[in-house]
Amino acid sequence: NNEIISNIRDSVINLSESVKDGQKNPEAINFSQGSVSELFPSASVSLVVDSEDCLFASKSGSHGSGVQMLDVYDILPFDNPDGGVWKQGFDITYNENEWDSEPLQVFVVPHSHNDPGWLKTFDDYFRDQTQHILNNMVIKLQEDNRRKFMWSEISYFSKWWDGIDSQKKDAVKRLIKAGQFEIVTGGWVMPDEASPHYFALIDQLIEGHQWLEKNLGVKPKSGWAIDPFGHSPTMAYLLKRTGFSNMLIQRVHYSVKKHFAMQKTLEFFWRQNWDLGSSTDILCHMMPFYSYDVPHTCGPDPKICCQFDFKRLPGGRVSCPWRVPPEAIHDGNVQHRAWMILDQYRKKSKLFRTKVLLAPLGDDFRYVESSEWDQQYQNYQKLFDFMNSHPEWHVKAQFGTLSDYFEALRKESNLDEKSSNSFFPVLSGDFFTYADRDHHYWSGYFTSRPFYKRLDRVLESYLRAAEILYSLALVQSSKSEKRSVFPSVDNYKLLTEARRNLGLFQHHDAITGTSKDWVVVDYGTRLFHSIMNLKKVIIDSAHFLILKDKGAYNYDISTPLLKMDDVQSSQDSLPRKTVIKLTSQPRYLLIYNPTEQERFSVVSVNVNSPRVKLLSPLGKPVTVQISAVWDGATTVSHEAYQISFVAHLPPLGLGVYQLLEVQSSEAVLADYNIYMRNSRQEKPDRLFKIKEMQNSVDNIILENSYLKLWFSGMSGLLEKINTKDDGKNHQIKVEFAWYGTTSNRDKSGAYLFLPDGDAKPYIFTDPPTIRVAHGRIFSEVVCFFHHVTHTMRLYKVQGLEGQSLEVSNIVDIRGEYNRELAMRISSDINSQNRFYTDLNGYQIQPRLTMSKLPLQANIYPMTTMTYIQDVAVRLTLHSAQSLGVASLKNGQLEVIMDRRLMQDDNRGLGQGVQDNKITANVFRLLLERRHGTDV
Ligand SMILES: [Zn+2]
Repeated sequence: NNEIISNIRDSVINLSESVKDGQKNPEAINFSQGSVSELFPSASVSLVVDSEDCLFASKSGSHGSGVQMLDVYDILPFDNPDGGVWKQGFDITYNENEWDSEPLQVFVVPHSHNDPGWLKTFDDYFRDQTQHILNNMVIKLQEDNRRKFMWSEISYFSKWWDGIDSQKKDAVKRLIKAGQFEIVTGGWVMPDEASPHYFALIDQLIEGHQWLEKNLGVKPKSGWAIDPFGHSPTMAYLLKRTGFSNMLIQRVHYSVKKHFAMQKTLEFFWRQNWDLGSSTDILCHMMPFYSYDVPHTCGPDPKICCQFDFKRLPGGRVSCPWRVPPEAIHDGNVQHRAWMILDQYRKKSKLFRTKVLLAPLGDDFRYVESSEWDQQYQNYQKLFDFMNSHPEWHVKAQFGTLSDYFEALRKESNLDEKSSNSFFPVLSGDFFTYADRDHHYWSGYFTSRPFYKRLDRVLESYLRAAEILYSLALVQSSKSEKRSVFPSVDNYKLLTEARRNLGLFQHHDAITGTSKDWVVVDYGTRLFHSIMNLKKVIIDSAHFLILKDKGAYNYDISTPLLKMDDVQSSQDSLPRKTVIKLTSQPRYLLIYNPTEQERFSVVSVNVNSPRVKLLSPLGKPVTVQISAVWDGATTVSHEAYQISFVAHLPPLGLGVYQLLEVQSSEAVLADYNIYMRNSRQEKPDRLFKIKEMQNSVDNIILENSYLKLWFSGMSGLLEKINTKDDGKNHQIKVEFAWYGTTSNRDKSGAYLFLPDGDAKPYIFTDPPTIRVAHGRIFSEVVCFFHHVTHTMRLYKVQGLEGQSLEVSNIVDIRGEYNRELAMRISSDINSQNRFYTDLNGYQIQPRLTMSKLPLQANIYPMTTMTYIQDVAVRLTLHSAQSLGVASLKNGQLEVIMDRRLMQDDNRGLGQGVQDNKITANVFRLLLERRHGTDV
């Protein structure tokens, strides 16, 4: 979607002149000046793999780190026995005198978890809770300099900051300087770690950190991620590269937590899988128990710990579900109460290698009311004072921030002096797929609300394009006398707003699809507005860049010079192509390549006439395929025609093509075969050759110079691929399948996937209408099923674009009841139980499908790709949106495309997922030959 249609006025620009002398003109360096405009570029455009890269890949693997998560999964029985008071753990005992030589250091860390949208929108939470928390923070921390507090979401903090006076701002700065108030992580949000692309993870981190640097002059140093539903090493890597030394994670499979607690590996150096040294190591603390709330953070027994959550004192709005309420601390009970909590601290401490203990004290949207601050801080101070005044107890307890804890931990383990990190184990791998109890795996959210998971990536692509074009335009405008005319300030504001809206959407209840319906609409509206604004930035910047005479730039907000080639009419609709009206005078078509690689890429735009001629940036005619634009499956619209051609663009280049209407066009029309159950009377189209026939057992065949594809004549689905360079046939069969939800009490919802067994094949009583197009630039098979319009397109161009298949599914399951639709690709590849998924588009993580785990545990997040392989071939499914994937059988890949669930799954959301949209899922399927040994 980086094509821009230009409606150019000759008075403004003499383009052909600009193009002619462009090569000599350094100003026009970002113009497309390539000499290759023919359909089949002779140059090799497939990516060359450096042999050094292969060497690197063959070296990487499990060695070097002590703990490999794949090995841990291999060992664990996943048996879930009752552990007593610590239900998912075990009995913890200790000796009274263990701390005699070295006292226990306890850091009680007050925090408030503020979701930037979940049950309420971002703005509503801010108004009702967040602003009061931060206002009270300033007052309550100043009352006693032993009090501490921390904050992580800069989206909220910056909004609050903008509304407070300078006195309050100074007080905040003093509290930070005094170490009473700490910003942890400091991202725009606490992002989900499964669905976001690393582009967006970095975006939200930069947005938060730049804000902090500019407004507070602080740089966070510790990561705090207590609520994301599973954890990715990509996040660890980004934090390390941001300059962090420490991080904390919480939502990890209960069996892994228990195992780590037994091995005392809850604190470890997290190392990237591919790191052959130790440069990516970051110290990570994994919280041991079920939740980050107070009952599950002081020690193993939630019944005891709950009594030390003083917001739950009798008479308040919250109580303890274990039915023993807290008691306010006074002289008469302090000894007993202090002893009770110290017992919990000591037991928790037995799970770690040092005598420094972290005891978080907080929950969702805590510390709203002034009285809550008093309840927590006053009662805990009494407990601390009592403990600390009894040296025979061998404990030093205090309020702390996360960095206070890590500092003490590093000091005690001599971490900063030692050259080796041997005190703590080294771990590699990831923490997906998360289960919090029983067989409750959080693999549903990898797919929930897929429409918005796709919209997120669309926004990312526009943001990337806009940022580069804006930067190039800014540089050029600074050289021009007309500097003030280019709307750099206005557009910068739009860019910033877009980054923040993208950042907000990475929140662990946003991109995950786990918020209330109206909150989803709020996020969707923000993404949608930013997409429209970024189009404006792209138009303004591209307009400025294509001018030979920058002085001729005339900024007119009401009549932009350029238009984009698609329009999205609302936040929850799919974009529609604009129709370009052709005349005998050329219309200019600007195409932008936002990647840093030279691209030969097929571009399609809609025009109003089939009598079209296209000229390349060098003025040469370009081969064009004209395809019909359809109303439904079988009716040709003569309002518009789709033209497709191979655009050639240098890295980050803009290319200016010309489109005009001619008397006799040399463009090649695609022709069509339509397979349907009752083929109609032959009714010839006035332009296209369309043959109608009955669905048949004969195969449909598509072909280019690399591949020959066989599709079923009954279903239109792919069955077999022949790779022409080696002449081999590969069984690669596409199918669709339904999952239902279990008949047990706990059913699938926004978070959880609880299927009713294996998926059932998608059955159609009548064969679908199949529309096959054969063209010069591409051929395709489109199958019209009731719930999905499935397209497989084969491009007839050189390079990866021609070696892979474009797969698109327009999914509509709005009429369904507790069902999830999957696309399954079965092959003769001997992948056994191993497959691979990416993490955040940044790295590849090997996966093992395990029969000892329930089906839903074997679903993993896919951000950009998944593959299976054997010694001979690799089959990769590239994805333009994040979804859940699995490889449940040898040779299979499966991706969940949408889910409609009628009930809540008891994780606090209080609703099902019933706001399904018509959703476009886009993929590429790539079959590659493998050389050499299996890695
Ligand atoms: Zn949360």
